[in-house]
Amino acid sequence: MTGTDVTDLAEMPGDWQRALAVVAHPDDLEYGCAAAVAAWTDAGKEVAYVLATRGEAGIDTIAPDDCGPLREREQRDSAAVVGVDTVEFLDHRDGVIEYGLGLRRDIAAAIRRHRPELVITLNHRDTWGGSPGAPWNTPDHVAVGRATLDAAGDAGNRWIFPELADQGLEPWNGVRWVAVAASSTPTHAVDAAPGLDRAIRSLLCHRAYIEVLTDEDPEQYVRSFLTSATGQASARFGGRPAVAFELFGR
Ligand SMILES: [Zn+2]
Repeated sequence: MTGTDVTDLAEMPGDWQRALAVVAHPDDLEYGCAAAVAAWTDAGKEVAYVLATRGEAGIDTIAPDDCGPLREREQRDSAAVVGVDTVEFLDHRDGVIEYGLGLRRDIAAAIRRHRPELVITLNHRDTWGGSPGAPWNTPDHVAVGRATLDAAGDAGNRWIFPELADQGLEPWNGVRWVAVAASSTPTHAVDAAPGLDRAIRSLLCHRAYIEVLTDEDPEQYVRSFLTSATGQASARFGGRPAVAFELFGR
C-alpha cells in the first residue's frame, strides 16, 4: 500500500478468552487467519470455527455429494493444526447462501452456544481491496460476513429471535469486537511469524481444493501465498509479517 494517509496497524486486543470464527467455506480461514489463530491458541485462548457450508460446490470435477464430506474432513484437519477442535457446519448450500433472517438466526444461535468475546469473519464488502478494478468478492462471503456483523448484536437481544431462548440458547451480549479478515481497510493486526509454519500446514490440509486450483506444487503454492499475504501488511506493522483485521467495536 502506498500513500501519505497510511497509518500503522494497532495490535489486536488480547484481553479476551473465547473467539468464534464464522465464515462461508472450508479454507476461508486458512487463506488468511490461521497464523493468528495459532498464536491465540498458543496463548491458551479458545477458538471455535463455524462454517455456513461444506464447500461442496467448490471443485468442478467432484460432485457435491462427494465433495462436501471430503472438504469437511479437510477443514477439521486444518483446524486441528492450529489448535481448534470445535468445527461446526450450518448446512447452508454452497454458492447460494442467502443473506437474511435465517442466516442471521443461525449465526446468532452459534454465538449464543459459544459465548465469544471476539467474533472473526471474512471480508463482507463487494470487492477484494478498494482500488479500481479490484476483484469482485463472492456472494457467499458478502452474505456471511454481513450477517455475522449483524448477528453479534442479534445474539444479545432476547426479543429478536425469541425461538432461540425457547431452545435453551440464552442471550449472549458479551461480543466486544467483530474482526473482519481480508478487509481493504484493516485497522489492527496479529504478528504472523510464530504461527506461520502451522498456517502453511493448515492451508495444505485443503489439498483436494488446492490441487484443482493450481498446477504448482501444493506446498510451494501455499508457502508463497501465505508469505506474500502476511508480508503485505508488514510495512504498517513494524516490519513484522501480519494477519490484518478491520476491527469493529460494539
Ligand atoms: Zn470462500
